[in-house]
Amino acid sequence: MKNTMKALVYHGPEKISLDEVPVPKIIEPDDAIVRITTSTICGTDIHIWHGGMPEVEAPRILGHEFCGEVVAVGPAVRNVKVGDRCAVSCVTQCGECFYCKTATYSHCETGSWIFGYMIDGCQAEYARVPHANLGCYIIPDKLTDEDVLFVGDILSTGYMGAENAKILPGDVVAVMGCGPVGMCAMATARLWGPAKIIAVDTIQSRLDFAVKQGWADFGLNPLKCKVVEEINKLSHGRGADACIEAVGVSPTMKYALDAVRAGGNVSVIGVFEKPFELEMNKLWIKNISISMGLVNANRIPQLIDLIRAGIINMTPLITHRAPLKDILKGYDIFGGKKDNCIKWVVNY
Ligand SMILES: [Zn+2]
Ligand SMILES: [Zn+2]
Repeated sequence: MKNTMKALVYHGPEKISLDEVPVPKIIEPDDAIVRITTSTICGTDIHIWHGGMPEVEAPRILGHEFCGEVVAVGPAVRNVKVGDRCAVSCVTQCGECFYCKTATYSHCETGSWIFGYMIDGCQAEYARVPHANLGCYIIPDKLTDEDVLFVGDILSTGYMGAENAKILPGDVVAVMGCGPVGMCAMATARLWGPAKIIAVDTIQSRLDFAVKQGWADFGLNPLKCKVVEEINKLSHGRGADACIEAVGVSPTMKYALDAVRAGGNVSVIGVFEKPFELEMNKLWIKNISISMGLVNANRIPQLIDLIRAGIINMTPLITHRAPLKDILKGYDIFGGKKDNCIKWVVNY
């Protein structure tokens, strides 16, 4: 193994560069070192780049969505071995602390979301994966990296959004935001058998794409129609049984609260940079439930099984592919929503 590697390093708001840095080493007994074979840029990386997460200490290697080959393991790693191809959970979980044992894995006391945030991430040639026993998931032989690339982050996030929305067969589900996470929420919402999935976004090409892929049944563009009225028309005048907010800004949150029917569920998976005021004086009488949270990446094995069975296929999200040396261009294009980019994949 080499001593140094290329990595995308965050040096403070608006400052990122591709640097030569040391290759990570095993620190804890349950660490693995993974040679990264495929990674991505996530919307959260863009938030960090623009200074939206001031708690991130520079210098920090960004990135938390990846696949790779295990090249070294600590003595306490049992579930993977050197040479295994694996998809990696963006949330690190020990399996033994209070939060892991009470199924709030994303708040693991020695883990949680730390990749590319509190510790170095995956937009590099190698990464150290802490708590590898519950972090690395072997990729079945028949599947490629790209087939399973999103299980560790956006697909698990979309799944949690759909799960928290408590969808029942025949329900009407509205998803506010047709970005990669929103589309993952639509694709997984299907698993519960809703009658209609409605996508809402101001980018018409993304709405058309989500409908064409079969993830959404209807696309509503707030620039062209009155979203809440249209959702009412599609739901017997009641409003959606469940709304999933997948952007993290006030207008989409407001649509979700206005479009949900009395007694329905609002499930928030968008990452907010700013506070949002709930109009409790109007909302209390609506009997709705609002849920939110950082992804629990505890269903990765099932998501891989669903992908292998052909029930979920998120590879159409991949619109751009380029090697690590071009990743700054990726930040510009994906981060700026240019060139109809939905997901920028780094291949090595
Ligand atoms: Zn992410
Ligand atoms: Zn834990």
